[in-house]
Amino acid sequence: MDTDVVIAGAGPAGLTLACELAMVGVRTVLLEREPRKPGFCRGFNLNARSLDAFDRRGIADRFIAEGHKVPVTSFGGLPAPLDIGSLGWEHPYTLGIAQTRVEEILEEHAAELGVDIRRGQAVHGFTQDDSGVTVNGEIRARYLVGCDGSRSAVRKLAGIDFPGTPTTRYVMLGDVETDLVPGKHLGGVFVIPRPGYVRVVVADPVFDRAEPITLAQLNSTVDEALGRHVEMAEPRWLTRFGNAARQAAQYRSGRVLLAGDAAHIHPPAGAQGVNLAIADAMNLGWKLAAAVRGWASPELLDTYHRERHAAGARVLLHTQAQALLAGDGIGPLRDLFAELSELDGVGRYLAELATGVETRYEMGEFATHPWLGRMAPDIPIAIDGCPTSVAKLLRGGSGLLLDFGGLDHPPLDRVDVVRAEPLDTESMDEGQVAAMLVRPDGHVAWLATADGRAEPGPLAAALSRWFGLVPA
Ligand SMILES: Cc1cc2nc3c(=O)[nH]c(=O)nc-3n(C[C@H](O)[C@H](O)[C@H](O)COP(=O)(O)OP(=O)(O)OC[C@H]3O[C@@H](n4cnc5c(N)ncnc54)[C@H](O)[C@@H]3O)c2cc1C
Repeated sequence: MDTDVVIAGAGPAGLTLACELAMVGVRTVLLEREPRKPGFCRGFNLNARSLDAFDRRGIADRFIAEGHKVPVTSFGGLPAPLDIGSLGWEHPYTLGIAQTRVEEILEEHAAELGVDIRRGQAVHGFTQDDSGVTVNGEIRARYLVGCDGSRSAVRKLAGIDFPGTPTTRYVMLGDVETDLVPGKHLGGVFVIPRPGYVRVVVADPVFDRAEPITLAQLNSTVDEALGRHVEMAEPRWLTRFGNAARQAAQYRSGRVLLAGDAAHIHPPAGAQGVNLAIADAMNLGWKLAAAVRGWASPELLDTYHRERHAAGARVLLHTQAQALLAGDGIGPLRDLFAELSELDGVGRYLAELATGVETRYEMGEFATHPWLGRMAPDIPIAIDGCPTSVAKLLRGGSGLLLDFGGLDHPPLDRVDVVRAEPLDTESMDEGQVAAMLVRPDGHVAWLATADGRAEPGPLAAALSRWFGLVPA
């Protein structure tokens, strides 16, 4: 084998996945079609879930140092912003940071970890057999992952269906200089402040995807929407995007997998795509590493499709709902929704949905504890009197069996067995959690309570399912 994994595409999905693999010593080649980075920036945020995930790798501070913290989020353009600053989250804000900068930081980290990044090389073909994949007729690897965006060549070459709903409406986007006041939503025109310029977004009445848009077209469309002439100049980026919502029928076809936009597209409402791509990669990385190392149970890699397809479907659901809420002709429904969003608990529910914090993987029918399947809370703990936290213990990329007393488990391969003292029993479900097994992606896979219950079953079954550990 030339390498273990080939990744197509150096966007947020491909770069995060490359870091996850290289961190645990999996040889990774990252092929990126474009010789240089683009001169425009699509996204501008990292949500709380992405920051939690990066904190479990020790790199969240690199992003936080460069972004600005916004302690509210929005849902479908409802008038009242949703407060996230008071919800007690680990990162109780959305981080404003350019996607281009996120990618640069990830690329620097990937280089530190030894990822072989090859720019100007598109994946244009592959064959797969029982032992591996041959990419572009020349690179032999165990697995290929398509992180190559919404028009994914890997998805098409693998013959994976991409069902969903087609675009029914396009909007025009222009990064320009203008006399419009940023931060305003005026008569169907969104004016979003950006560093050194303004992003103008307006419904596209022409609906002709084939024709690239011009500054004159954008300008006249905005003039018409506002009923006055607006000055616009210096276009940095002009594009149009639609409201299609599609999801790959399978995220895995043998030795070929999909992540990020290659696996799902949705309306841009709520600024989800970068964050969803990172979440896919965090879920896939350790499972793929396990498959490469040969210790994964036969089903482990299939749980990637099961877990992330379900999470992606949630995002398609709420971004489509948000796009409808922000659209025309549903005034009474929007007013009612706005009232509902201010009810106790509903705002939190929507904020958790919109930021991915609610993500919970299915752990089986006997998983009733609220922590099971969710990102393990970063509770403060001490080991031999030294303060630390759950997030810090996950930074090496291993699993974690955290024992708060009495389990006395012998050491394990692939899982760090740690005896710890909670420093704040309230944060541990009021002292009810006696032990928990945390996957490398930070999600709780097994849990024992102080009254002797073990969910979703015996610890040995969880160690076998997630870490391929068979009792001696
Ligand atoms: C106008 C706009 C605004 C957005 N704003 C936000 C936002 O605020 N927040 C947010 O979270 N998301 C936002 N998004 C969505 C976000 O940009 C995407 O969801 C995100 O980039 C997906 O990441 P990815 O890694 O899956 O794919 P991409 O970022 O698309 O990366 C795919 C990479 O693969 C490369 N590639 C393509 N084909 C090949 C091939 N055959 N071989 C090798 N390489 C290939 C491409 O050059 C590219 O570098 C926005 C999108 C748009 C269009």
